[in-house]
Amino acid sequence: MNKLEAKNVEKTFNQGSVGAVQAIKDISLDIKEGEFVSLLGPSGCGKSTFLYMVGGFETLSSGSLMLDKKEIKGPGPDRGIVFQEYVLFPWQTVFKNIEYGLRIKGTNSELSYTKVNKLIDMIGLSGFENKYPHTLSGGMQQRVAIARALAYDPDVLLMDEPFGALDAQTRSLMITDLSRMHKETGKT
Ligand code: ADP
Ligand code: MG
Repeated sequence: MNKLEAKNVEKTFNQGSVGAVQAIKDISLDIKEGEFVSLLGPSGCGKSTFLYMVGGFETLSSGSLMLDKKEIKGPGPDRGIVFQEYVLFPWQTVFKNIEYGLRIKGTNSELSYTKVNKLIDMIGLSGFENKYPHTLSGGMQQRVAIARALAYDPDVLLMDEPFGALDAQTRSLMITDLSRMHKETGKT
């Protein structure tokens, strides 16, 4: 089944003004449930713009973008997002950062304790529950960001060059690990 359907999607920033930029021109693609898809292209070709439209943070100029056959109208808990920079709450521990989405959702503390610990285990950071982000390496912080995005159990995980800021060796490890996590979670 198709999870995501993009039809003739276009995006022009500052349309009608002198500073108009066409970021996306006529993109159509279908993504199946559970599929792992990478968008490749040079800097400035519109990858982030497309991802943010799927995330519901950016509007379309024309075309349609459907998730589960429903038009995307804004952000929602069915989509988790991981950015290139490590966007964690610096004043909260690894555990609290991951637990954040569950707290918002009102999940009871016993269940969220189990869920968060399972995720910490999956990202390979057992023993680091009570550490603060600034004491972790970039790779570890990005693992926490992934766990945080997965905590509220979105169907779709969107990642914008999540390993771009990491060194080559860590990046290659993270890619192997991400592919394992994809198999374990079955997320799109
Ligand atoms: P990529 O992620 O592939 O590097 P982007 O999606 O960030 O590319 O950008 C695509 C194009 O859209 C670029 O020319 C960029 O300058 C432009 N752009 C992105 N965001 C905005 C914005 N908010 N306002 C105006 N132009 C933008
Ligand atoms: Mg980008």
